[in-house]
Amino acid sequence: MATPSPAPDIFISGDGIVGRSLALLLAREKLRVGLSASQPVPPGAPTDIRAYALTPASRALLESIRAWPEDETLATPVLAMQVHGDEGSELNFSAALHGPNRHGMQGTPALNWIVDATVLEDGLATALRYQPQIERVGSGHTPAAPLTVICEGRGSATRAALGVDYDMAPYTQHALAARVRCERPHGQVARQWFLHDETAGEVLALLPLGGPQGDTVAVVWSVSPQRAAQLQALAPEAYAEVLATACGHALGAMQLVSERRAWPLVRAQARHWSGSAAQGAWVLAGDAAHAVHPLAGQGLNLGLADVAELARVLREREDWRGVADPKLLRRYERARKAGMLPLDLGMDALQRLYTREGPFWNRLRAWGLRGVEHSGWLKHWLARQAMGA
Ligand SMILES: Cc1cc2nc3c(=O)[nH]c(=O)nc-3n(C[C@H](O)[C@H](O)[C@H](O)COP(=O)(O)OP(=O)(O)OC[C@H]3O[C@@H](n4cnc5c(N)ncnc54)[C@H](O)[C@@H]3O)c2cc1C
Repeated sequence: MATPSPAPDIFISGDGIVGRSLALLLAREKLRVGLSASQPVPPGAPTDIRAYALTPASRALLESIRAWPEDETLATPVLAMQVHGDEGSELNFSAALHGPNRHGMQGTPALNWIVDATVLEDGLATALRYQPQIERVGSGHTPAAPLTVICEGRGSATRAALGVDYDMAPYTQHALAARVRCERPHGQVARQWFLHDETAGEVLALLPLGGPQGDTVAVVWSVSPQRAAQLQALAPEAYAEVLATACGHALGAMQLVSERRAWPLVRAQARHWSGSAAQGAWVLAGDAAHAVHPLAGQGLNLGLADVAELARVLREREDWRGVADPKLLRRYERARKAGMLPLDLGMDALQRLYTREGPFWNRLRAWGLRGVEHSGWLKHWLARQAMGA
């Protein structure tokens, strides 16, 4: 009879990008890790059309666990970012000016990299196959581990069962995502528009895909739920035309090459990120702990920063502390709550500023954006924040 494998030191519930990355990082620390098995994908379920803007810190973490796509056509380096505001105001960031190789990476400095959600998930799945230290645990079975890390995303059932409040403030917008092929190459530039003329406070982002020579972009358009439904209902050609017009034909004519999918936008944070229950200690990471507006493309970067911090706290613990020591978990909670505060407040303030209507607000926003463009230090600081530096 086979001997049952010993209980893991840490059980990770939720095998999204955050859960998988944490499992790989903790296994490197010689900890026995249990990771919940993937939830079955219903037949005909749509593929994830999101593409993530990942910071140098996220890239360094994913490289360290061998889950970073080496092929530049799968991780497009962003060399410049253009932000277009009211009354023709503009803010421009460039990797040459703002992106020194702080993390000691090889190659051209980049502001960030755009990676397909599925490419990242597949890379992590491959890395997991080479890591015997990680045991996959079937659904409905929770092993008796001293510590459970809950990485179940926004709607986490385990967090709810523990009675942890998740303070959620829905924004009145949905993020409508799609992929389009453009007449002109993207030139490794990420572009964002704060639209106001006929549209009430919409944000449109085009992220470059397919590598340096690519002509495909990932579209994230934050719009009211009604407008999201209208844009989804348009024929593909009509949608592409409306999109090309909204961005002033910056990349010429466009062709829709994916389905369109909308996500409701929320700002949320769990009141407590760690605690203990009858089954053992628990801690939250990723979207299970927090959700931010995708305006700055930071949700996953924050989740990966949770992963890095939790692994660091566990690695550097005093010899006599176990992995479930409440003091350790509170250290992690304090560090991460403080770490995400400036970005969370900044994004919320920006979102509110850009949904105000009227000539006064138009002028104020244009003045603000031009001021930042010419400010030197403030612009550099903003660029470093967006890069997670
Ligand atoms: C349109 C859009 C664009 C975005 N763009 C960016 C970007 O450019 N950059 C960026 O950094 N972020 C971006 N984000 C945010 C990013 O998508 C999320 O922050 C990230 O996916 C969170 O990862 P996660 O692993 O914490 O959660 P999830 O991706 O939600 O994964 C949770 C996992 O847990 C599993 N699970 C759930 N419940 C259970 C359970 N009870 N038991 C076991 N398993 C369970 C689920 O099946 C899933 O696999 C964007 C979001 C949106 C909506």
